[in-house]
Amino acid sequence: MTTATSPVTLEKIVALCKRRGFVYQTADIYGGLNGVYDTGPLGTLMKQNIRAAWTNSLKIPGQEMLFIEGSLISPQAVWEASGHISGFQDPMVDCLSCKHRYRADDIDLTKACSFCGNLSWTPIRQFNLMFKTQVGAAEDASSVAYLRPETAQSIFINFKNIMASNRVKIPFGVAQIGKAFRNEITPKQFLFRMREFEQMEMEWFCPESSAMEYFELWSAKRKKFYAAIGIKEEHIRIRPHEADELSHYSSATSDIEYLFPFGWKELEGVAYRGNYDLSKHMEFSGKDLSVYDEQEKTSFIPHVVECSVGTDRLFLTLLFEAYHEDIVGGETRILLKLHPTIAPFKAAFMPLSKQQLEPMEKICLAMKDKGLTVQFDATGSIGKRYRRQDEIGTPLCFTYDFDSESTGTVTVRNRDTTAQERISIDTIEEYIRNTLRA
Ligand code: ATP
Repeated sequence: MTTATSPVTLEKIVALCKRRGFVYQTADIYGGLNGVYDTGPLGTLMKQNIRAAWTNSLKIPGQEMLFIEGSLISPQAVWEASGHISGFQDPMVDCLSCKHRYRADDIDLTKACSFCGNLSWTPIRQFNLMFKTQVGAAEDASSVAYLRPETAQSIFINFKNIMASNRVKIPFGVAQIGKAFRNEITPKQFLFRMREFEQMEMEWFCPESSAMEYFELWSAKRKKFYAAIGIKEEHIRIRPHEADELSHYSSATSDIEYLFPFGWKELEGVAYRGNYDLSKHMEFSGKDLSVYDEQEKTSFIPHVVECSVGTDRLFLTLLFEAYHEDIVGGETRILLKLHPTIAPFKAAFMPLSKQQLEPMEKICLAMKDKGLTVQFDATGSIGKRYRRQDEIGTPLCFTYDFDSESTGTVTVRNRDTTAQERISIDTIEEYIRNTLRA
């Protein structure tokens, strides 16, 4: 076996996603919708694993983390208060010659259009990225609503409800996984920049005095999370924002960046947001969102540290990280070296011939009953089945062969090394669980 010679590219990932059922273009049979995708069966399993790993990574011993699911649609007032109606926009420019549209900060306007080669641009206009809609039949200002461009505001506008209905004390966190919508001027790089995507966001509410400490703690915790789900340390970096990049209300923001084939790009944002959001909603709604400090006998508006990552962007990142090609038996094999906790299937069960179908299926069902996501794979030559499982990242393949019945053993093959060993049937579950823990 030799290691990869050709590097991973976006095209290879897109093709693999479609071929194996990770991701499909939405409304593919009608020509698709730019920047919008559906998740296939394998992608759905993998996303569930990503969400579970993220949820798990938020624990701080002895401190509370609550989870909510906010609505996707919300009234205009929310976005006026948050500043999205006036400020959530990107600069847009069109080529006067071929009408191709660009994000003005993505290109050099002193150079010709890369589409048609002419140099003639419209003036730059600001384009608000929110999807606007109307709720109910009345067409007046009161019916205007927006699809949320981020999940965070659902947490801020529910702060009072959360405090009133749960026995929590500052500091604590509120986290949420859910869809967000941005009418991106130029969706691109597959799942990297989409118009409908999922975010995993966490807002940590704390007193101002400990906010910077929590900002450091969360930055370090988030970086550790990426190592724990199999991303190499040299592919992840924390880039603190320069003073001129910081929002006016933030005194510290860091991007956690990944080294994509198209360069270092933001994967997650960690931001100390001051008490900007709660203050704004307090001002616009007229509701008191402050918290009473029993010790100090005074009220204060909590400060917030936010961690925000796109599920789809992380999904793409993990595919880039896992994609490998090597030569096995003179043939190129594609393999996804996904961390076992992220892999859609933890193991595949393969009978070697028809006679072994039944006993192998019985073992496979027993593993499913124990809550393990595993697959029964009985069609095609054993070599083909190995290739198929390698390509979808299944860490272990078990085969039941001619000696299995008499010896009470199966062969287990390791995805990454292709090494095989015989183990007792009684120890299969333990073997899989040990791999998951590694
Ligand atoms: P970018 O600079 O890449 O546009 P942003 O700074 O606008 O990102 P945030 O508003 O901080 O992004 O969103 C938090 C996270 O949500 C990002 O780090 C990213 O993982 C994800 N995200 C944002 N926009 C998109 C999108 N259009 N498609 C997929 N994921 C996205």
